[in-house]
Amino acid sequence: MRYCPLCGKATVAKIVDQRERQICPDAGCGFIFWNNPTPVVAVIVETPSGVVLAHHVSWPEKAFSIITGFLEAGEDPKEAAVRETREELGLIPESPTLIGVYPFARSNQVILAYHLFAQGEVHLNDELDAYKIIPRSRMKAWSFGTGLAVADWLASFN
Ligand SMILES: [Zn+2]
Repeated sequence: MRYCPLCGKATVAKIVDQRERQICPDAGCGFIFWNNPTPVVAVIVETPSGVVLAHHVSWPEKAFSIITGFLEAGEDPKEAAVRETREELGLIPESPTLIGVYPFARSNQVILAYHLFAQGEVHLNDELDAYKIIPRSRMKAWSFGTGLAVADWLASFN
């Protein structure tokens, strides 16, 4: 953040609470850019034929992932998991269970991962342009971000 969002002055780097942060040099303003991570909800959506992996329009061709989305203000993360499943896949979700909470420093996010069962036919919203349904026995986790949640979920069956 190069300019103070409160008063518009150019920010400067300064150590605050043991870390370098961009702060406003105006003592009367005192803005500090904490740069705290953003929570993201990730959902392993399991249908009777397997787990839904979807491809975002902006991703490389072969990249597929479980469903993710940002929380709305005041929203229970569990409700966000249900809402994202409805909005992105058009499925009818049952109540979600928490898998765990995972770091994703690369995007300055923290991932709140849920699993839920869902029924119905997949209808992608316009953020997504492809999907596949993978039986649980053929699911493979990846070693970062949402993949850590997939790994823990798969390990719970061993
Ligand atoms: Zn300022």
